[in-house]
Parts: sequence; structure tokens; C-alpha cells
Amino acid sequence: MSILTPFYHFNDTRNALRPLERIDNIREAAKDFRKTMLAKPKVRFYKSIELIRVPYPAKYGYLNAFALPTPFIHLCNKLFVIQFDSNEGVKTLLVSPSDWENQRETPFFAQLDQSAGPFSNQMEKLIVKGTNTVLNALQQLGLHPEDIDYITYDHLHTQNVTRWLGGQGQAAIFPNAKLLVMREEWEGTLSLLPWQNQWYCPSGIAGIDESRVELLDDSVFLGDGSVAIMRTKGHTEGNHSIVAHTDQGLLVTSENGVSMDSYAPIHSKIPGLASFAKRTQAEIIINGNTLECGNDQYLSMIQEKSVAGPWPKDERFFNMALSSESDGYWLFPGTKPTVRMGDLEFGKLTLTTQ
Ligand SMILES: [Zn+2]
Repeated sequence: MSILTPFYHFNDTRNALRPLERIDNIREAAKDFRKTMLAKPKVRFYKSIELIRVPYPAKYGYLNAFALPTPFIHLCNKLFVIQFDSNEGVKTLLVSPSDWENQRETPFFAQLDQSAGPFSNQMEKLIVKGTNTVLNALQQLGLHPEDIDYITYDHLHTQNVTRWLGGQGQAAIFPNAKLLVMREEWEGTLSLLPWQNQWYCPSGIAGIDESRVELLDDSVFLGDGSVAIMRTKGHTEGNHSIVAHTDQGLLVTSENGVSMDSYAPIHSKIPGLASFAKRTQAEIIINGNTLECGNDQYLSMIQEKSVAGPWPKDERFFNMALSSESDGYWLFPGTKPTVRMGDLEFGKLTLTTQ
């Protein structure tokens, strides 16, 4: 398909036998990649929209670093609506459209419900905060389901994609959309180890027609190069990050980390993070629920922050627009991140149908 152009800046960076050399290679490649991408056009439109806040174990969110007994952090799941130019016209991409009302069968969520027993309803009301749905957010923008050309997720944990693209007797809600996904993530989701399966929605991609899926073997630029899908194996084997060129520089979306603090722990006020970073010299804190590929996740987070570059509002932090960005909550003391990206909007929306 002509709107995808592969790029190879990072391909050989992880071949070094010595892991620290891989870091040097990644930083060099990131400098080169930034130069390439910043010379390309900006996206036409970029907007992030909060969908829902859910509890997530602190021991996973800040692996080995969080110092308090608070069991959960609050994760705020976001949708990103991005429009870019291509030689086929303006394209609309949804990043991380979580159909959260229809992914509760994910074993991790189901268990959370069960462990609360008879209090499950009350607990849910207290700690799960639904703000918006994907379809409602699109309607608020004036977009129709048929306007969506592509959808993508940094990885497929908890996602129910069948509802969007159709399958198993359900009609597609987005009749024209294609899923952009790394081949490993797709194949992995079809054949999960017990080690992985707690985090995937059963039948989350079941029955989706192959013609609706673009399996990626390489990192790629989309359209005019204002958006990139960059391989960042770690959190899952087929993980990728989304890079968008905006008025705020290159914004990188991922779930390898759960807050901007995770990418600059030495400057974090979250109890435990800075001291862990000092003690171990760790430059990042891993979001470690599955640890599918721990060393690679460390390297991928270095890659992500090197590509993102400094956050313009406070250059000690990085330009990371996370798909699940933690926020503080009164029930979860000590978990408020030092800084947050919050919601972003750049450019002007193009309405592609009337
Ligand atoms: Zn995940």
C-alpha cells in the first residue's frame, strides 16, 4: 500500500553483544531519525481525548521502584485522533481507540471485579471513572465512523478490535478502517502463552477479515511522513510506538511507561523513583506487568525518549504523550506524577465526508 514507507534507522542498533553499546547505538540512531522526521511536514490535526480512568497495580506500573504500600495507581486511557496528508488525500487515524465498555472479559479486569466480591459495584463506581467513549468523542468532533481510515494500538492488551472491524457475525462499526499492527503482535495475540493471556481480551481479534489488517514487518512512515509507527519491542513482543510531528515537536505515544516520570525517574517526586534511579543508575522505570522482553523494554524506552526529545514546558522531562497516563487520585496516596502531558490539540480538523 502506497501510504506506508518503511524506515530502517534503528534496525542494527540492538545487535551489539554488549548491552551498553546498544544504548549508544540507539541514541545515535535517534538523533538521525529526529533530523529526518523533523524535516518532514507536520500532521494536519492532532487531539488526545481522555476515555476512562482505571486502577492498575502500582507494583507493575513502576516496577521495583515505587516505595509506598498503595496498591494501585490510576491510569487514564486516551484516544488520539490524528489526520495526515497522503498522495491519496487526507487520512484519519485513531490511536488507541479502547472500546472499554466491551473489553471487560479480559481476565485481569474480570479478576479485579471478583476480588472485590459483593463490593464490586461500589468499588467500581469509586475507582473506575468513565469520561468518554470513542464513538461519542468522534461525534463531538463531527467525525463519522466511515471517516476512519486507520486504527492502531501500541499493543493489543485488553483491546476488543473485532467490534470496530467486524467479525464473528458482527458488522464493522468502522466500515473503512484498517488495523496497523506489527506482525508479531498479531500472531502473538492469536496464540498466547499462559504468561501473556491475563492481559488480552478473549476473542479480541477473532474473526477479523485479513483484508482489514495491515501486518507490519518494519517501522513505517505514514503518508507524508508526519506520523511514524516505530517498533519498540518490550512491553510486548510486537509493541510499537506512534510518533507524530506537531507544533510541540515529536510526540511519542507508548505504554512501555505509565507516566512522564517513568522516563525521567531521577527528577520524579513519586516516592521511590528517584532513589531507585540513583541507586541503580536506571534512566527509565519499566511498566512491568508482563515482562515479555525486559531488556528490550529498557532499550525501547531509551529509544522513545531520545526520539521524543525534551518536553518544551520542562526540559528535564520528555515529550511523551502516553496512551495510559497515570494521574493522582485521593484513594491512591503518593501516586501523583510530578508532571503530566494532559490533553493536547494541534492543527485543524478536516471533515472528509458530509
Ligand atoms: Zn499492556
